[in-house]
Amino acid sequence: RKFVYDFSEGNKDLKDLLGGKGANLAEMTNLGLPVPPGFTITTEACKAYLDDGAAPEALRDEVSVHLEALERRMGKKLGQTDDPLLVSVRSGAKFSMPGMMDTVLNIGLSDESVQGLAAQSGDERFAWDSYRRLIQMFGDTVLGIKGELFAEALDEAKKSRGAATDVDLCAADLQELVEQFKGIVSKETGRDFPQEPREQMDLAIRAVFDSWNGDRARLYRRQERIPHDLGTAVNVCSMVFGNLGPDSGTGVAFTRDPASGQQGVYGDYLQNAQGEDVVAGIRNTVPLADLEGLDKASYDELMRTMETLETHYKDLCDIEFTIERGKLWMLQTRVGKRTAAAAFRIATQLVDQGLIDEAEALRRVTGSQLAQLMFPRFDGDATSDQLGWGIAASPGAAVGKAVFDSYTAIKWSRSGEKVILIRRETNPDDLDGMIAAEGILTSRGGKTSHAAVVARGMGKTCVCGAEELEVDTKRRRMTAPGGVVIEEGDTVSIDGSSGKVYLGEVPVVPSPVVEYFEGRMHAGADDADELVKAVHRIMAYADRVRRLRVRANADNAEDASRARRFGAQGIGLCRTEHMFLGERRELVERLILADTSEERETALRGLLPHQKDDFVELFESMDGLPVTVRLLDPPLHEFLPDITELSVRVALAESRKDHNENDLRLLQAVHRLHEQNPMLGLRGVRLGLVIPGLFTMQVRAIAEAAAERIEAKGDPRAEIMIPLVGTVQELEIVREEAEQVIADVEREHGLELKVALGTMIELPRAALTAGQIAECADFFSFGTNDLTQTVWGFSRDDVEASFFTAYLEKGIFGVSPFETIDKDGVGALVRSAAEAGRATRPDLKLGVCGEHGGDPESVHFFHEVGLDYVSCSPFRIPVARLEAGRAAA
Ligand code: ADP
Ligand code: MG
Ligand code: MG
Repeated sequence: RKFVYDFSEGNKDLKDLLGGKGANLAEMTNLGLPVPPGFTITTEACKAYLDDGAAPEALRDEVSVHLEALERRMGKKLGQTDDPLLVSVRSGAKFSMPGMMDTVLNIGLSDESVQGLAAQSGDERFAWDSYRRLIQMFGDTVLGIKGELFAEALDEAKKSRGAATDVDLCAADLQELVEQFKGIVSKETGRDFPQEPREQMDLAIRAVFDSWNGDRARLYRRQERIPHDLGTAVNVCSMVFGNLGPDSGTGVAFTRDPASGQQGVYGDYLQNAQGEDVVAGIRNTVPLADLEGLDKASYDELMRTMETLETHYKDLCDIEFTIERGKLWMLQTRVGKRTAAAAFRIATQLVDQGLIDEAEALRRVTGSQLAQLMFPRFDGDATSDQLGWGIAASPGAAVGKAVFDSYTAIKWSRSGEKVILIRRETNPDDLDGMIAAEGILTSRGGKTSHAAVVARGMGKTCVCGAEELEVDTKRRRMTAPGGVVIEEGDTVSIDGSSGKVYLGEVPVVPSPVVEYFEGRMHAGADDADELVKAVHRIMAYADRVRRLRVRANADNAEDASRARRFGAQGIGLCRTEHMFLGERRELVERLILADTSEERETALRGLLPHQKDDFVELFESMDGLPVTVRLLDPPLHEFLPDITELSVRVALAESRKDHNENDLRLLQAVHRLHEQNPMLGLRGVRLGLVIPGLFTMQVRAIAEAAAERIEAKGDPRAEIMIPLVGTVQELEIVREEAEQVIADVEREHGLELKVALGTMIELPRAALTAGQIAECADFFSFGTNDLTQTVWGFSRDDVEASFFTAYLEKGIFGVSPFETIDKDGVGALVRSAAEAGRATRPDLKLGVCGEHGGDPESVHFFHEVGLDYVSCSPFRIPVARLEAGRAAA
């Protein structure tokens, strides 16, 4: 195995081996761009080191060979006393990772060679400045000395010299500082700062390897779901100097605006500076455009280089560069991060420039970026006092009155107030309060904290870990930096997309992207928002290539119409339970209480016309498109009064000797229907089999509604879906009865109804016997919510709020299996059931309903498994369309 690659030996596709930074340094080198020579130690070497606790034998020799080659090329040796070659040692994993050691500059300087550097450069100040930087960075990152010790000494020096910034310190000052820094090293580590250049380099390389397993790096990888076994590469790069005076400097640049996607000159430049000075904010940078006035030649070359990079990478690049006495050097590039809005705009711009095709444009954007663009936002022009900020845990913009406990949140929201629930951190007891609140703000915890996980699950705006805000739940107040106090009832606004927290009400503006989907904004208009135009085009590409169809979960005409505007190609799940609520509850109660079949039939007859009217509306709004109606699914007790409330009522009446016969019967029924575990009890197809006439009434309502629509010259496409089937026998019985009813209605109306009859696959047994079940079903719809519950043995309502946070923190899963389908378990059942079903019946239609239908990663999986459609809530439809397109592109 080869452990070391010269920059000229690698390329951008070797990120696994050379890390992102190394691969791109190699790519730039081979493009002929001015990169200071150097070499990269592979991630393989790091892995071997981490596995064995020692660097592989061959590594030291290989490094020597490459170092010698570098020395020959540069005409000087590492740390050579009269003219030292200096290098930087830079970490660089496949994914850039905060929490890892980053970089040590100026390796090779020592008490002797600093004199050589001074003589060679003719600049003593520069030499001492470089040396003090080396000791500072080396001390901090390699020797593990607290960075503040150096920073304090530097501040002290500046203060005693009356220097505003480090540039105002002279050579003598810096020389003195070096002595102090060396003192710190001896005191803190018990040994002197290493003077031997090769030892400096080797120690730095080892420190980079070790930093892969640092606490923060591990935590970051867990959160971002980056595997722990990738290892990091190490880049050794000959130094170029931006701190050689006013004709030198260092900067960062983007080939276009990463916030908006606009083309132009974006970046910052700092004269007479080295390394991280630009981003560290120790001195004021100037906008990159000003470089043109400072050093036109370098500026022009930089512009040309950026163009070369964009054309080559065919994407937005970000860049780190240094100018040494008027000569430009490229120190890093990568395909740059960008906002959601910029991603869409850049993708379409690149298509227009002929750099990428439509399929590639689709790959450049994601469903979660589109989802971000669909949240309402705070009005960017409005000015408000920012109180602080935390982690953007769950997107959206929420405004409400501050409350500090769940009880108040619930009470106030019942009386119509909008509230923001503010807690230090949340726990399962806060669940009802979180539901009642517009948004949630916590001062503790990260992206996997209870508040963050639960809020994302509920689609509720959340900012967590706003540490600078001091939350005092006892005194019901929060204190912001600067002493601003927010009492209970004060209005606050939180932005779950940026993590910002504001005092008072910040006006909320609807998302232009939603306005577009709703048809209130047109992409074709001349003055159309650039973002809307880009989204329009990308959606068109997605719709053109996708194979999965996208349907909506919708129970009423209003949702159905919105879904249609958002591009739904039918309804994949119409729940019928809401049709049993409201004023119809009484009829349902009578149905449940019926002692005789006569009473029962009367109750059912009462329900029939209501159900039918609902379906007529629904078929009308989805005219020409399939509408899958699920027969009654939830346990019956959900339609009865709450057991405690009712018991109290009956007891009170009793004490007043005022018997209410109906309440008593209800209470009996509630007791009779009470189940320890309703999720696994009398529900779904079991209801249809146990309560005579219930399902046939629903089927009749559907069939009559369809007949009416046909008579009105409509085109209803009804599909009837039986929930919670575990065995084909259940389905056979229900199917036979249903066919009978449909035939009756056809006869009564003298027309033909083409109603499909199918089932949900949401129990493991159904999935395992899908081949048999398919004999009796025109379609399957995978109910992946219940399937996940039953395959894992998780009761969703309980586990998400109780132990999921712990599971996520321990890395047992990176994301809740209710959010993204568990491919290996639940997904494997879906795959085999789909295959078995199609083996029995090649024309079997396959779909999925449940939240996974709108989850990007899950959509890709359903595409791959070969389903015909996914069904999701109306607002997720654009996301599902886009991801279905991306999966096929
Ligand atoms: P990060 O991964 O944190 O960006 P880098 O390895 O890119 O760390 O180093 C940070 C900065 O140090 C670079 O942007 C550059 O300014 C400076 N730097 C690194 N190597 C060199 C070098 N060989 N010559 C001059 N400056 C360098
Ligand atoms: Mg960098
Ligand atoms: Mg279900």
